[in-house]
Amino acid sequence: MEAILPELPEVECLTRAVARVLDGRRITAARFFRADLRDPIPTEAFQGLIVGETIEQTFRRSKYMLVKTSAGYAVFHLGMTGNILCYDSPTPQHPHTHAVFTVEGAEAKRYLHFVDPRRFGRIFCVEGERYEDHPFLKDLGHEPLEARALGRHLFEASRGSKQAIKTFIMDARVVVGVGNIYASESLFKARIRPTRPAGKVPREAYDELAAAIKKTLRASIAAGGTTFRDYKAADGSPGYYKVRLQVYDRTGEPCGNCGSAVRERRLGGRSTFFCATCQK
Ligand SMILES: [Zn+2]
Repeated sequence: MEAILPELPEVECLTRAVARVLDGRRITAARFFRADLRDPIPTEAFQGLIVGETIEQTFRRSKYMLVKTSAGYAVFHLGMTGNILCYDSPTPQHPHTHAVFTVEGAEAKRYLHFVDPRRFGRIFCVEGERYEDHPFLKDLGHEPLEARALGRHLFEASRGSKQAIKTFIMDARVVVGVGNIYASESLFKARIRPTRPAGKVPREAYDELAAAIKKTLRASIAAGGTTFRDYKAADGSPGYYKVRLQVYDRTGEPCGNCGSAVRERRLGGRSTFFCATCQK
C-alpha cells in the first residue's frame, strides 16, 4: 500500500477544528523552532500580518488551511506528515514540533502546535485581501464540494484530452482534492474504467462521476469527526479516515456489486484499483 498523505477530508476536518479555536480570537505569540520546513518560514511576515490581529476566518482551499486577519493570511500545508494539535501548554509535546502559536480569547490561553516529522509541510503568509494570486494557490482548480456544475466543468475541461480519466481527475488544475484513493473509489461508484481517455467520456458519465466524487469526499469528512484527537492516528501520524473502501487496496477481493476480482494496475505512476466487469 502506498503512503497515505493528509488528503482533502483530513485537511477539512482539521481546518474546522482549528477554526473553533482561532476564529474571533488572536494569536498573541508565534514561536518557531526552525527557520524552514519545505521552504523558509517567513517569520517576520507572520509577526506583522498575523500576530496580534483578530482572526476573522479559518478556511480551506484545496489542501491549504488559510487563517485570515485584516492584514493578510497565514497559510499552512501539511505536506506528508504535518499536523496541528491543540494543547493548554506552550511546551512542545512532540519531538517534531516546529512552531507553537499562543491563542488568546475569551477563555484560558490555548496553544496550537505545528508538528511535521518529515517536514514537507509549509507555513507561509500572504499580505492583503487576495490569496488567490499567490503562486501556490493561483492555478488551483475547482473545489469539488463547492462546485455546483462540477460534472459540466469536468466534461468541458476534458474535451480533446487523451489522458486516462483517473489521471485527469487527479490534476489539481482541473479539480482539487481528488487524491489517489478518492479517484479509484469515485470511478468505481460511477462505473467508469480508470483507463478511459478523459476526452471520450460523455457528459452524463461526468455528472455521475461528479456526484460520486462529492459523495466519497463527504463520507470521509463525516467519518473523520471534527476533533483534534480524531485526526491523529494511533501511531501519531495523520490517518486516513477509515471509510469502507470498495476497490482501493482490495486487489483480488470480490467486487461488492458483481463478485469479480478487483484488479490493480499502475496508471500515471499510481496504484489503481477497479472492477473490469462493472467499470466500462
Ligand atoms: Zn464488479
